[in-house]
Amino acid sequence: MIWNREAECMTAGEMEELQLKRLQEVVKRAYENVPYYRKAFDDAGVRPEDIETLQDIEKLPFTSKTDLRDAYPFGMFAVPDDDIVEIHTTSGTTGKPTVSGYTQNDIELWGEVVARALVMAGGDKKDKIQNCYGYGLFTGGMGVHYGGQKIGATVIPVSAGNTMRQIEIMQDFDSTILTCTPSYAMYLAEVLENQGVGHDKISLKAGVFGAEMWTEEMRAEIEKRLNIDALNIYGLTEIIGPGVAQECMVKDGLHIFDDHFYPEIIDTQTLKALPAGEKGELVLTTLTREGMPVIRFRTRDITALRYGQCECGRTNVKMDRITGRSDDMLKIRGVIVFPSQIERALLKIEGLEPQYQIIVSRPQQLDELEVQVEASPALFSDEVKYVEEVKKNIEQHIHNEIGIRVNVTLVEPQSLPRSEGKAVRVIDKRELSK
Ligand code: ZN
Repeated sequence: MIWNREAECMTAGEMEELQLKRLQEVVKRAYENVPYYRKAFDDAGVRPEDIETLQDIEKLPFTSKTDLRDAYPFGMFAVPDDDIVEIHTTSGTTGKPTVSGYTQNDIELWGEVVARALVMAGGDKKDKIQNCYGYGLFTGGMGVHYGGQKIGATVIPVSAGNTMRQIEIMQDFDSTILTCTPSYAMYLAEVLENQGVGHDKISLKAGVFGAEMWTEEMRAEIEKRLNIDALNIYGLTEIIGPGVAQECMVKDGLHIFDDHFYPEIIDTQTLKALPAGEKGELVLTTLTREGMPVIRFRTRDITALRYGQCECGRTNVKMDRITGRSDDMLKIRGVIVFPSQIERALLKIEGLEPQYQIIVSRPQQLDELEVQVEASPALFSDEVKYVEEVKKNIEQHIHNEIGIRVNVTLVEPQSLPRSEGKAVRVIDKRELSK
């Protein structure tokens, strides 16, 4: 099923024509209504009428997270406050959060793109969506809510947390689609197993998981343990929330809803555009947002774009699963390491729980990387010599993946902290500012 065949299956020529028209409009709107953009465009010596082709987008300056934060709270809004009907923010763990304002049309748009995403995951009006994304200022809860209602499904707004209640609702209400972070899906699977709730007791068929990075190996694990199709959703508060891109059942990349969000990939060093297929930082421009248009936003997410028709019939450009963020990239003794690489290595080993934490320290002058991994109960009760062998095996697998030596510590099952939102995978104890 395809929710909006016209928007999801148009030819490349039709898409480019639509994108250019919308780009010209949004650039003009931003220039005329947002003092920040007027100044930024003037400083770069570019005027809205200079955008004659899609490639001309490269003449426009980038917008960074810091630019948005500096405009706190409402400096980026392009409409009078009266026209804003809803506000969301990022978590703002460091400094002020980023604020995103929505007009009524923006809310309609949000529902539309999430509707496309849910239908891509096999959703329709018969489904019951157990929405465990947080409701509140975080965009996850409301985004899925609007999309779910748009397709006529039953939305269960259970929000994040209270795992035992989640399990109960899942069984009593016959939830068919689960929406949450992949790490929380793993945790739910674990609790279901511990409670002896088998696949025959639940009706889940699919999961729409996002808000954090995960790997193919993690997908396989979730699909097996929950007996569902596990699909990847992508989005960010600065652009709209969840619903910027979604994976179809082909499970080979996420379709970006590029009639509304224009993607580019840039080289993080030269900041120049990279051709299709090459890996770099994703930059997004909102083509139709009214409340807060964002031009060339640097997402920090590392991916690549692929054009052409997908086996599912859609033509929206696909982006690869996010493999890292240019800002949570770890530099260990000069080597670039992404937490996802460690996860990939761990999931290659039989009998390991994919629960881990990475601890970076600098006891003397050299960085040390410790990976704490939960062993299975069976393994933990085994004799010391065997445990030592497993530890060596994990160290070898991680070494193969990242090219540097690490110390692995096997910890007791269930001993690492579980998260109901985004998993905390890295603890950096280095005092790098000194
Ligand atoms: Zn597809």
